[in-house]
Amino acid sequence: MKSIDEVWAGIQAALKAMPEVSVTAYDTWLAPLEAREIQDGNLVLYVETAFQKGIILDCYTTRLEQAVMQVMGLPLKVRIISGEDDKYPEPPPEDENDVHTVINRRLMDARIPEYEYSFENFIVGSSNQFAHAAAQAVAKEPSSIYNPLFIHGGSGLGKTHLMYAICNEIRMRNPGFKIIYTKAETMTNEIIEAIRGGHTAELREKYRKADMLLVDDIQFIAGKESTQTEFFHTFEALHQANKQIVLTSDRPPKEISSLEDRLRSRFEAGLLADIQPPDLETRIAIVKRKAQLLQLELSDEICEYIASQLKTNVRQLEGVVRRIMANQLLAGEKPSLAVAQNAIRDIRSTALPVPVTVDKIMSEVSRTMNVTVDDLRGKKHSAGISRARQVAMYVVREVVGSLSMDAIGQEFGGRDHSTVVYTIQKVEKMMETDDAFKGLVKDIIKNVSNQ
Ligand code: ADP
Ligand code: MG
Repeated sequence: MKSIDEVWAGIQAALKAMPEVSVTAYDTWLAPLEAREIQDGNLVLYVETAFQKGIILDCYTTRLEQAVMQVMGLPLKVRIISGEDDKYPEPPPEDENDVHTVINRRLMDARIPEYEYSFENFIVGSSNQFAHAAAQAVAKEPSSIYNPLFIHGGSGLGKTHLMYAICNEIRMRNPGFKIIYTKAETMTNEIIEAIRGGHTAELREKYRKADMLLVDDIQFIAGKESTQTEFFHTFEALHQANKQIVLTSDRPPKEISSLEDRLRSRFEAGLLADIQPPDLETRIAIVKRKAQLLQLELSDEICEYIASQLKTNVRQLEGVVRRIMANQLLAGEKPSLAVAQNAIRDIRSTALPVPVTVDKIMSEVSRTMNVTVDDLRGKKHSAGISRARQVAMYVVREVVGSLSMDAIGQEFGGRDHSTVVYTIQKVEKMMETDDAFKGLVKDIIKNVSNQ
């Protein structure tokens, strides 16, 4: 189950990607909305004033509901409440002692400007210039030469930023151009839902109307056969109609093991552009630009220090700059090397990998191997379910370090210790003799670990 914040982030991205929603309109009216809860078939959104609420209701209800449908695959109604609505009680106060709550509140009050993911705000260096140039070429002239454009590279290196930049650039020049931006995870959920609900035709129709389709983190379709089949047909239809396709992935196509060959060959037939971690000079330039965008004054010395400390992930560089900004707002503390050091320490500690939960593994195996989570946890013995359950147990053992064999057995319908040991050995043996199976299991492990 996704948190409401995750769902809302997806809806916001979908709104931004709508050609009918201009950047200014988004920033002015939609960005201030906060998602509160989903209740009785309503997505409840909060905005501060009754005035804002009125405009949003009049002008954006349909768009909001479309975005909800796109992201959640559910026809939820949107209900907007405002701080000036005394009919609706204020949300319960957050934990005032929680330092993040305090920081977030103050940051919100201080109205730090959110900047755009544009080409202009993307710092180019040798590590990313090829991907940047390719993205610009695609934005200038979609469907001319690089189709698909496949951008790959590690987490936090600017892949999503480049996709948004393409969308923003095209939207500015040609507002009528129909762009669909989606994350592969959202698309997978949509496809699975559509297959279950028997409305694949509508879904196909939706994607095939695009002039340009951007799918972020495509590695996520690894191993998911029905999703790959649907996507293949959409890909072919768009490609043959000479529509631009842009894909990103945390690894190149040849390293996504459980990807159908026909998809892999199509991905490779376009332009592959990789992004590497930026060199020192580029990192310094990025820190400077992020500070400038947040209107934070940082000395060269501090910028250089931050850039020398964090090397592999731009998201972390940005996090440090924000942390320093928060410090200035909170404590009135002027940026200094000591403040920067603390901020770097904070970011390093929050950057430790989030522990992968058993639930997450269950849901990934269920989506990949076409069985329900209840089946994985239950007693049924059909071949497909047993196989999926074996894989899930193996993945849990590999990824969730802290669980004993007994505890793993408990997660799978109270199976005993020796059954779990036997199952894991069986999966290990199968992986030794069956490369395709091994690839599938490895892809599942990467997908649950990388998000
Ligand atoms: P990815 O999708 O590759 O995981 P993102 O595109 O989400 O990474 O980037 C993470 C953060 O780093 C974003 O805030 C983005 O603006 C920033 N970023 C990454 N590369 C650059 C760059 N070259 N110039 C400016 N900002 C960058
Ligand atoms: Mg991304």
